[in-house]
Amino acid sequence: MEKGWSEMILERFFPDIFVKSIYELPLEELKARGIKGLVFDIDNTVAPFDIAEPENDLIELFLYLRKQGFRLCILSNNNKARVRLFNKNLRTLAVHKAGKPGVRKLRQAMKKLKLAPENTAIVGDQVFTDMWCGHRAGLTCILTAPICNRDQLVTKIKRGAEKLVLKEYFKREGK
Ligand SMILES: [Mg+2]
Repeated sequence: MEKGWSEMILERFFPDIFVKSIYELPLEELKARGIKGLVFDIDNTVAPFDIAEPENDLIELFLYLRKQGFRLCILSNNNKARVRLFNKNLRTLAVHKAGKPGVRKLRQAMKKLKLAPENTAIVGDQVFTDMWCGHRAGLTCILTAPICNRDQLVTKIKRGAEKLVLKEYFKREGK
């Protein structure tokens, strides 16, 4: 059956993979797909948006992922001060004011990591920034449930429309 335009619009926001949290990333599946690098959103993906520094579990997860051979990056639309402080103990490639869903900063980061789109996955909690950005750049897109239900105002406004997209996604996935 031919796809309708509404379906094609919706699909650019759909994730390729959905996980409840970053601690449930399907690492073997990702390796099998040829994924060698993970680009993480910060706010409400790896930490609540209003928590300044990473928890120990996250620091350990990043160490573990590196040991597993993944190249890592955090790519946030948030400002320099937020990203710098957050990265103090994570010590990874960190990009602030990423302008997602724009792809310019994402592509710069992948160049630094020496990663091609087909070997990279983006991990985020928002369909209109993280998923759309990832699809535009040809990455594997992994959606996480937001870490907490507190959101910045600008995000709050988007969540309503996001719910409609996710309702369609989960309906199709039979979840
Ligand atoms: Mg986020």
